[in-house]
Amino acid sequence: MRDIVTSAINFPAPIVMLNEHIASLELWHGPSLAFKDFGARFMASLMSYFIKDENKTITILVATSGDTGVAVAAGFYKTPGVEVIILYPSGKVSELQEKQLTTLGENIKAFEVVGTFDDCQALVKQAFLDKELNSKYRLSSANSINIARLIPQSFYFFEGYKQVMKHDKDVVFSVPSGNFGNLTAGLLAKKMGLPVKHFIASTNINKIVPHYLKTGIFDPKPSISTISNAMDVGNPSNFTRILNLYDDNLQLIRHDVSGFYLNDEDTKKSMIEAYQKYDYVCDPHGAIAYQSLENLKSNELGIFLETAHPAKFIDVVEQTLKIKIEVPAALSSLADKEKIAHKLSADFEDFRDFLMEA
Ligand SMILES: *Cc1c(COP(=O)(O)O)cnc(C)c1O
Repeated sequence: MRDIVTSAINFPAPIVMLNEHIASLELWHGPSLAFKDFGARFMASLMSYFIKDENKTITILVATSGDTGVAVAAGFYKTPGVEVIILYPSGKVSELQEKQLTTLGENIKAFEVVGTFDDCQALVKQAFLDKELNSKYRLSSANSINIARLIPQSFYFFEGYKQVMKHDKDVVFSVPSGNFGNLTAGLLAKKMGLPVKHFIASTNINKIVPHYLKTGIFDPKPSISTISNAMDVGNPSNFTRILNLYDDNLQLIRHDVSGFYLNDEDTKKSMIEAYQKYDYVCDPHGAIAYQSLENLKSNELGIFLETAHPAKFIDVVEQTLKIKIEVPAALSSLADKEKIAHKLSADFEDFRDFLMEA
């Protein structure tokens, strides 16, 4: 296990202090430049370990609103015995993300679904229940419904906490949230004993969980597109896990978790504020979490998770801040590579037929 962890998590997660009360925990120092590398790389190493003596290929099905697919693809790229099928919503991931998803080739196959992220997620869920598909393929999931992705995500809450202990303050984590895997991992860390004072579930106008925390009503809706597109999730799949961790007790959940959300315009204002006040460039997801830390008490230290490198959202970031940002080599080299994706409707029959004939 130690070997798996050391080889999977071979990049840092540094704390950057903006002032004495607000810190960024940068989770984008891995190969796909987003926090999902932690979960995806750990899961890939773990699976390779367990399948190394088997002969039937594992097919990993993953629905993505962007970064999950990229991290999973990068994590499993060229792994023997593993094939990855990625479903992403057509026109709803950034150009760069699409390049990251569709240019790897080898054991990574991309499907462009004419529909929303929720449609992609529904296709994956149906595939797992389909008898025929399951007799032909050995299917496995890599979405944050897979516990092997959540467990390693709890590591960096410890890592972030460790780096701020010297300040001797109560620690509040603000977590940019879409499917709520990241937040669930934080709650697991707390259950394991990490003395976090409070969590903030930060999101965009797909505010299903903030709404639940306020009213007690969980009301999933079709997702709405925003500039923080990795959080455009209308029916967060880890929500039941959170309920379960707290025995369905809303009061207990509220004790540990508050909701926060911003629309696109306020997200941009927040990016500008962080840049002007602290010379810090946030990506749109981190910018929402940053803004949620406005009203901390004097003995509190708020850590917002920077879930992606700002260059992954270069258009929004450059237009909003009116600056040029440096693009890491991992991204700039993608420009000339060719996109290879199979276009599909959101209809399950289409997807199944394609896989049965392949
Ligand atoms: C996936 C993602 C999120 C949301 O994480 P969940 O675990 O789905 O809540 C937030 N920000 C970025 C950049 C992401 O890629």
